[in-house]
Amino acid sequence: MILRAKYLIPNSEHIIENGAIEIRGSEIVDIGTYSTLRRNNATTVCDFGEAVILPGLVNAHTHLELTNHHDLIERTERFTDWILQLVQYRRDDQAWVDRAVDDGISMSLAGGTTAVGDIHGFKRVAQTLKNSPLRKVVFFETMGFSTERAQLGIERIDSNLASASPPSPLFTPAVSPHAPNSTSAMLYRHCLAIVQSRGLHFSTHLSETPEEIEFLATGTGAFADLLNTLQISMEGWTPPGVSPVQYMRDLGVLKARPLLAHCNYLTDRDIQILAESGSSVVFCPRSHHYFNHTDHPIERLLEAGVNVAVGTDSLVSNWSLSMLDELKFLAQTQPGILPETLIDLGTINGAKGLRLNRVGKLKKGWQADMIAVRIANDGSPLIEQILDESSQNLLTVVAGKICYDLIFREEDARAEL
Ligand SMILES: [Zn+2]
Repeated sequence: MILRAKYLIPNSEHIIENGAIEIRGSEIVDIGTYSTLRRNNATTVCDFGEAVILPGLVNAHTHLELTNHHDLIERTERFTDWILQLVQYRRDDQAWVDRAVDDGISMSLAGGTTAVGDIHGFKRVAQTLKNSPLRKVVFFETMGFSTERAQLGIERIDSNLASASPPSPLFTPAVSPHAPNSTSAMLYRHCLAIVQSRGLHFSTHLSETPEEIEFLATGTGAFADLLNTLQISMEGWTPPGVSPVQYMRDLGVLKARPLLAHCNYLTDRDIQILAESGSSVVFCPRSHHYFNHTDHPIERLLEAGVNVAVGTDSLVSNWSLSMLDELKFLAQTQPGILPETLIDLGTINGAKGLRLNRVGKLKKGWQADMIAVRIANDGSPLIEQILDESSQNLLTVVAGKICYDLIFREEDARAEL
């Protein structure tokens, strides 16, 4: 199959006019101008016209299982009150989780996502997620702050990973202790031992709120109150007295080069530690906005050479799961970052953050994960047109398979009229 469009962007640095890409199986076998590819081939051609074909977008941090909690959880003044609602209203039955994951996958594909880093806290991996056409690294989430709960957290992660076997080309199991305010040092060390012995990837929420920083510094504040409300014992716990990043370093977690969600509040020393460790950070711009955080240190992280990816977070703190919308929001709110860099953040940086091989650029021999975006073609710089409010995702291809096709849907809708 050959896909062609007026423009093709194999990566943020190159533009091919009248570009085309040939796919065989799950891989890209050729890429160039349409006239060159056409000369060598006699195969099906799909022409997307006034559009840009580019690498599929990578949503490096989401919670698909929470998709249908969107209307159950209200926005609150305090972050810990929002967490409390999540604890209270969380639906935990298989049919509900399956439906939420299914809906989340459809929304992701429609919004240009070809790969996700999905945090999965439910008991078993939803089969619907495992078998879906989306490329996914599924981070099984565990938590437990008191000794007793941490022990349950250990049992949970061990059984979740056992249920997740075997991995497949589109499904990679991984591990995610939730956050330092909900997960004990013992449980972090257990997760670390698992990822080191099995070669799995590791993610955690980190430095998300000032309350988390206060909790680790002094053991007081909103998170101490939350544990108290939930009747979770803090007995035997001594606050480490350092920043969340320094706490992770001291526990040995940064040796695993983890994928760290949020990192909204960082000192210069934290950024230096992250850069030296080779960890990746996922910035979730619209979720960040939802919680009214102060400016994210993304520009300082990029300057320091940290790999920064982008995520939507869950639909509980966002108004869509579209990665194209997420990048458009980022373009509007971070004018200091070059549009080309924004494309990198949503493609190759996400792939690096999730440790996906041969994903994130369009190259011969790489995975055929791509999208086609309809643009206004108004003469403004091409990447700015992709990030313009008016652009629209037309097509999502994962591992050579068409998973979302708006033109087909539009034609279908017209046929029904
Ligand atoms: Zn999250």
